[in-house]
Amino acid sequence: MGLLSQGTPLDWADAVPHAESIRADGLTQVINVFKSASARKNDPRLWGDEIEGVLVNLDEQGKAARLGLRAGRVLDKLMAEEEDIKATGRTPVALWRPEYGRYMLECTPGSPYGPHVKDLLQVEPNMVARREMISGHLRPNERLLTITTFPRLGALAAPVSSLAEGAVDPGPQMAPEAEVAPFTEPWHPQHGDAAHSLFAPDELINTHPRFRTLTANIRQRRGAKVCVAVPVFRDTNTPWPFRDGPYPVTPHPVDGAPPADLPAGQIYMDSMCFGMGNCCLQTTFQASCIAEARRLYDQMIPLTPVLMAVSAAAPIWRGYLADIDCRWNQISASVDDRTRRERGLEPYPADGPAGYVIGKSRYGSVDSYLEASSDRFNDLPLVMNEPARERLEAAGVPAPIARHLAHLFIRDPLVLYRELLVQDNAHSTDHFENIQSTNWQTMRFKPPPLAPLTPPSIVPSVAASAMPSPTGEGPSSGEAIAAPVVNLPPPTVDAPKQDQQETEEDYCLEGPLGWRVEFRSLEVQFTEFENAAFAVFTALLARLIVEGVRCPTTGTTRHVDFRMPITLVDENLERAHRRGAVLTEKFHFRRDSIVDGDDGGSQAATSEDVRASPEDVAAARDLLEEQSAGRIVAETIIPLIRQYLDAAGGLAPEQRATLDRYLDLVAGRASGRYQTNAAWIRDFVRAHPAYKQDSHVSDEINFDLMRAISAISSPSHAADYPTPADLAAGLPALNTERLWGSLPRPVAAARFAPLSDPE
Ligand code: ADP
Ligand code: MG
Ligand code: MG
Ligand code: MG
Ligand code: MG
Repeated sequence: MGLLSQGTPLDWADAVPHAESIRADGLTQVINVFKSASARKNDPRLWGDEIEGVLVNLDEQGKAARLGLRAGRVLDKLMAEEEDIKATGRTPVALWRPEYGRYMLECTPGSPYGPHVKDLLQVEPNMVARREMISGHLRPNERLLTITTFPRLGALAAPVSSLAEGAVDPGPQMAPEAEVAPFTEPWHPQHGDAAHSLFAPDELINTHPRFRTLTANIRQRRGAKVCVAVPVFRDTNTPWPFRDGPYPVTPHPVDGAPPADLPAGQIYMDSMCFGMGNCCLQTTFQASCIAEARRLYDQMIPLTPVLMAVSAAAPIWRGYLADIDCRWNQISASVDDRTRRERGLEPYPADGPAGYVIGKSRYGSVDSYLEASSDRFNDLPLVMNEPARERLEAAGVPAPIARHLAHLFIRDPLVLYRELLVQDNAHSTDHFENIQSTNWQTMRFKPPPLAPLTPPSIVPSVAASAMPSPTGEGPSSGEAIAAPVVNLPPPTVDAPKQDQQETEEDYCLEGPLGWRVEFRSLEVQFTEFENAAFAVFTALLARLIVEGVRCPTTGTTRHVDFRMPITLVDENLERAHRRGAVLTEKFHFRRDSIVDGDDGGSQAATSEDVRASPEDVAAARDLLEEQSAGRIVAETIIPLIRQYLDAAGGLAPEQRATLDRYLDLVAGRASGRYQTNAAWIRDFVRAHPAYKQDSHVSDEINFDLMRAISAISSPSHAADYPTPADLAAGLPALNTERLWGSLPRPVAAARFAPLSDPE
């Protein structure tokens, strides 16, 4: 892939002996961060998005769409361009980075967006520019699709078996003749030593050894390969009771078969690719100081499930329509490295050392709030690394943050490099980031990295700055941005011109990183318009949270408070996965999200008291009511955001109209006026003439679906679908009106209607 190796990743057996010292060093590093950065103030409220996508090959002859395994080659070219641009002292429009799958790419803006409302108008043009940037490097039949799951990843060649009427369920079956249908280009039918998957060859994994090591080490730490199962969608002809399989046989005697107790009615998956091989949309916000970051984090937590449901885009798994619409729980299961003892399935031996019993995978929902006044909502028992908590508190780290970090530090580091075991704890945050970046939660609290010992005049090379962390997330990309980069001219982004007053402000888009929080639950959408709408929505939500909203009648500023017992946020996340959750589910949410003045924060809890009292929980529950996503998003939050925008002012009518259109999209998705990507995909499949109402998404259906998404997402591929022949064959029309109403194609609008200044 052209990336330099950072070192030799250690196999699990070699990594285990180092875990404790890495944790100890990581703790020292994060304590040093708190010592050096707790007093930081007035950092600009910069922010940015991350979009993940997959390469898809359209095979017109074979009528099949396959994952293209060329992402590394494409990335090499994009990063060479990045290096060229940086060498001339300019900032690239976008940064492209590797991701878990060999077919995946991640992109972010070349530098973060500025803090002003008008900077929100840069988002969609930047996203459009990214698609243009990559299009020059793709082959004629290759597409970059921003889809959450690739529908036929791991699908069987001869699917849909069922149990005979009245037969006893024999459990999962394996058959020598069972095969996985080719779903990559080129196809690699062999099984792999890293994942041991029945369905997903190791060739799906990014070629950098760290990703393979991560896969193998999770499996080895767990003591078995991972198990992902989702309920199948029962359509009118779905064989019932549904028994997925029979599955192909693998050469891994210990670990080859699916669990014998896998219930009927489930789609079974067995490797990291079924989770980490999916795509999402994330947004990261810098707060002006640590207190603001804590507030932002806490207030955003309750919105993570609801917004996931509104962005739902994942209705097909391993070639079947599923009874769920979202990806989160599958990713959790795909990297669940807990042992049977940690999962509470087996006791620790009475005569040996006790260990943790841990409720969730290291990819999970947030377990605790961070503000002291949030303690009364922390009703989930936190499993903590007690010595770590003591060290953190002794060093002056605020108790709720110490508990949060001590909870992260119950996990082992998964990928270690032999050459990088010893770090300078005063200048590196690598070991901390190793733990942090493999605790994947719905929100992430991102402390500033320690300043590396890089001379200020040296800009890190592209190769170094592009080094993925063990997971493709975290420290390396952050560090590259954190390294002092001075005197760069403004980004060469094709962005609307800002007025004088704004461009002269003294914030630096590439300054050292401050305290940030990341919103991580959103599913990625087909188009730049939709991705921009969701990203901008979270940015406006952030502003609403930190600034409050001026009441038009009284002129006083009022603040929002969305907090609720954290166990109910978890319950909401479960509900958010369900098919059509925006239409059919209700979510726990505050009856009234506006607070005037002091909201009666709880007495400072002692550090031992990590659980809200029953009285606290009862009082907090009294504030809540079960509500639809439409009521929460369209009727509560968006009106507040509009008030915020009204009060902020400073936008030309067409600029405000652009933002209003984003809000309309999110409101329409939440209330069911528009379809989620998931609902749209499901309808497309069910309306396809080759669909047999049996939940099975064939190669042919998938091919047409991928062509349709390609046509929707990129104006230059509008001819992909539907062709006159498609329509003659009775294939469904594009029906984009259901996605966002009758306005013209948003992608084209973003490109061809440049925004003008208010004056
Ligand atoms: P990770 O994968 O660890 O979440 P990335 O580097 O891929 O991090 O993405 C981080 C996002 O944060 C990008 O959109 C980037 O533009 C944005 N960003 C970079 N610097 C800042 C900053 N100082 N404040 C806020 N956001 C930033
Ligand atoms: Mg990513
Ligand atoms: Mg991220
Ligand atoms: Mg990632
Ligand atoms: Mg990233």
